[in-house]
Amino acid sequence: MSKLIFEESISGGCGAERRPDGSRDGCILPKSDIPGKDFSQLIPSKYLRVKDAELPQVNEITIVRHYTNLSKRNVGVDDSFYPLGSCTMKYNPKINESIAAMDGFAKMHPYQDTQASQGMLQLMFELGEYLKEISGMSGITLQPAAGAHGEFTGIKLIRAYLKDKGNPRKYILIPDSAHGTNPASVAFCGYSPIEIKSNDKGNVDLADLKSKLTPDVAAMMLTIPNTLGLFDNQIKEIAELLHRNGSFLYMDGANLNALMGIMKPADAGVDVLHINLHKTFATPHGGGGPGAGPVACNAKLAPYLPLPVIKKEKDGFSMDYNLPKSIGRVRAFYGNIAVLVKAYVYIRILGGTGIKRVSEIAVLNANYIMAHLKKYYPTAYERACMHECVLTGETHYKKYGIRTLDIAKRLLDYGFHPPTIYFPLIVHEALMIEPTETESKQTLDRFIEVMIKISEEAENNPEVVKSAPHVCSVKRLDEVAAARNLILRWKK
Ligand SMILES: *Cc1c(COP(=O)(O)O)cnc(C)c1O
Repeated sequence: MSKLIFEESISGGCGAERRPDGSRDGCILPKSDIPGKDFSQLIPSKYLRVKDAELPQVNEITIVRHYTNLSKRNVGVDDSFYPLGSCTMKYNPKINESIAAMDGFAKMHPYQDTQASQGMLQLMFELGEYLKEISGMSGITLQPAAGAHGEFTGIKLIRAYLKDKGNPRKYILIPDSAHGTNPASVAFCGYSPIEIKSNDKGNVDLADLKSKLTPDVAAMMLTIPNTLGLFDNQIKEIAELLHRNGSFLYMDGANLNALMGIMKPADAGVDVLHINLHKTFATPHGGGGPGAGPVACNAKLAPYLPLPVIKKEKDGFSMDYNLPKSIGRVRAFYGNIAVLVKAYVYIRILGGTGIKRVSEIAVLNANYIMAHLKKYYPTAYERACMHECVLTGETHYKKYGIRTLDIAKRLLDYGFHPPTIYFPLIVHEALMIEPTETESKQTLDRFIEVMIKISEEAENNPEVVKSAPHVCSVKRLDEVAAARNLILRWKK
C-alpha cells in the first residue's frame, strides 16, 4: 500500500527526485501511443545533440513555491492602500472579471460576422452612449488602447479637420503642470508644443496664454482637473479665447474620476477629450496595461473619427466603414474588448446616481486627507482640491536632510504603497495623493496617522526615514546606478 502511494506521488509530479543522477522533472508526459520511429531516427545524426541541454531542473512544487513567493512580494490594490496620484488605483470589482470571462465575450473572434456579434456590438454601442452622456459629446471611438493613445487620436482629429479647411497649423499649447504624455502625443502628430505657465492659484496664467495664442495655434491641451488636483474655473474663458482664434480645446480627461455626473466637459466648451477607462471606470491596470482610452468629440470633429464607427439601425447594430474623412484605424480590430466589457459592467451596476456618487466621494476623500495632513505637509495652493491633493515635503523636512523619496520609502514599512512623488514638476518635493472613492474612512485615518508618525520620525529620528524601507524584501536601491549600469543578461 505505501509503495503504491509513493509511486502515485511520483507520477503526480510531486517532487521526488526521479533520476539516478539527482535531476528532477517538473512534468510527466504520457508515453507516445503512436507506433513508429523515435526522433533519433527521424533527425539526421549531424543535427542531434550530443549532450543534454542544461535546462533548469525544478519539480512542480518548487515552481509553485517560486511563483507564490514572487506574488507575495508584489503590491496591488487587492492587498493595500495604493494612493498613486494621477493613476486612480481604485478597487476593481470582481464581478467585472467574471462577466468579461464569460464565454460569449472571451471566446469571440474579431473576424466573426456582425450578425453573430450583435451582443458585443450592442455593448460597445451602449458604452459609447454612456460615455457621450458623461462627457456631453456627440461622437466617440473606443479604439485607443491607452490615455496617451487617446491623446494621439484626439490631436489627429484636430489636425485632420484643420487640414481639411486648408491649414493644419503648427503649435499646441500645453500648461506646465501637464502629464508628460501631452507633449509626446503632440510631437507624434506633427505639432510642436508650447508651454503655458501656471499662475499662483495653480490655474492657467491667462496673460501667458493670450501672449502665445497666435494664428498658428491648432489647439490647447488642458487637463481638467489639472495634475495639481485643481479645477481651473477659467475653463469657459479659455475655450472662448481658443475658439475665437479658430483653435480647439482638447481636454485631457484622464482625471474624469472627479467630474462624473457633476460637470459635462462639452458644456464648458471642450471640443474633444480622451477618457481613461482603466482609471475612472475601474478596470485593472499597472505594469503597462491593458487599458482603453476612448475619445469623445463634438459634431465638428466626428466625421474624422477612426473606422469603423458602431451604429444602431432598425434591425440591429452595424459597423460603419463608410466615413470618407476618417483618420483611419488607430488600432487593430476594435480596441481592448475585455477592458470595454469591464467598464460597461461598472457603469451598469452603478447607474447614473452611483456614477455621480463616485466623483463626490473621490473628491471628499482627497479633501479629507489634505485637511488632516496640510499642517505636516503643506499644500502648494491654499484651496479645496478635487480627487487628489498635492502636498510638499520640502517646507518641514528639508532641514533634517529628508527628501520626499525618503518619506515614500518609509511608507512601505507601514504597508502602504507610496503616493506619486516629484510630479507635477512645478511643485518641489511633491507628494501627489489620490485616495479614490473605494477606500474606507478607517483606511484613510490609518494612512493619515502613519504620515503624521513619519513626520515625527523625520524630526526626531531622521536616520530611520533616510534608510527606509526596513521590512521590504528589497531595500533602498541605487536608482541612478541601476539606470546607468544595465545588466540585462544573467551570467553564471
Ligand atoms: C494617466 C494619464 C495619462 C496617460 O494615460 P495612459 O493610459 O497611461 O497612457 C495622461 N494624462 C493624465 C493626466 C494622466 O493621469
